[in-house]
Amino acid sequence: MMRTEQAAILHGTHHRYAWGSTQSIQDFCELEQDGLPLAEVWFGAHPSAPSLVAHGDELVPLDHVIQEDPEGNLGEVQRAYGDSLPFLVKLLAPQQAVSLQVHPNRTQAELGFAKEEQQGVPLGSAERSFVDRNHKPEMVIAITDFEGLVGFRHSSQIAESLAGAHMNPFAQRLLELLREERLSEAFAALLRAEPHQVSYLVDELLVNRAGDAAIEKVRQLTATYPSQDPGLLASMFLNIVRLKPGEAVFVGAGVPHSYQGGLAAEVMANSDNVIRAGLTKKFVDVDGLLSTVDFDSAAARVLSVHPANPYFEIPVPDFSVALLHNDATLAQSSPRIALALSKGVRIQSGVTTLELDRGQAAFVPASVGALRISGGTTLVAGVGGTSKG
Ligand SMILES: [Zn+2]
Repeated sequence: MMRTEQAAILHGTHHRYAWGSTQSIQDFCELEQDGLPLAEVWFGAHPSAPSLVAHGDELVPLDHVIQEDPEGNLGEVQRAYGDSLPFLVKLLAPQQAVSLQVHPNRTQAELGFAKEEQQGVPLGSAERSFVDRNHKPEMVIAITDFEGLVGFRHSSQIAESLAGAHMNPFAQRLLELLREERLSEAFAALLRAEPHQVSYLVDELLVNRAGDAAIEKVRQLTATYPSQDPGLLASMFLNIVRLKPGEAVFVGAGVPHSYQGGLAAEVMANSDNVIRAGLTKKFVDVDGLLSTVDFDSAAARVLSVHPANPYFEIPVPDFSVALLHNDATLAQSSPRIALALSKGVRIQSGVTTLELDRGQAAFVPASVGALRISGGTTLVAGVGGTSKG
């Protein structure tokens, strides 16, 4: 049996989605520049792309390692989450806007997964939104300046941005709904509009409404997406959020979002369920999306941590995130993934010390207990946890 009683370096899986930066992660991790986009590096045990762990001379997928000794690796977390790691850590580097999307809550994920299974949509299919049964709350922690669109603006703000196109019948309809604060109906009307209605309104707004931040965002997006993509107008419905390094934003179930640019770390529940609304060439499931969106999601709160308490405030139990700038001991006994955000990070657990390069991550089994971290800026994802200086 394979027992993991020590922290071990993780080999993350590379995801080369077209929206990824050709430089950010490559520079950060000092990888060879090959001119190709590298959108995400995943550190975790999601069965579709588990990280690899060195075990003797072999590299073994982390989900297998965990299943060999769930108790030692997961500790008490096993009782609530079964034999799998409840969270996933990523490096995320959009160069172009990532598709406008929402993630389901757990009930929606259960139902959606069952429905697509019943309909016989294959797991790898482009028409598939639900690839597992889990919810996917997520948190983005900026490594460089990072921009995203997160949560709905107030109806009156959206109406203000649209007002310049009031002679356009489609805009008139949207304005009427927005002025009556019927946000969900306005959003639905937008996603169900004919492509020519969308592109006509986009063109009109770009001519008439220079200077409005939401319209300037649309203008920027037209460099990448065709003017009939409803995601262009949908972007006007969302708040522009700009994070400084170390700042974070939590995106709960149903909160619409589209990451726009920069380099960030992301921690989320162990799921890959995505329902897309636009800014994509991929499958858009409008009905699925509308039944998942939380129309009460307001402007996202920008979060940060203090040296006295390095843990971000997170409203779900699936994961915790600590951001350490100084040497610290984390007295947590859950499985953890530590990601080095600067060079020369040392992770000391029991008798072993691991040195991490920038952008490198380690898996720490629950059985290891307290962790001493020193030498640089480190993000530690785990479950629960308290801190000691
Ligand atoms: Zn997302």
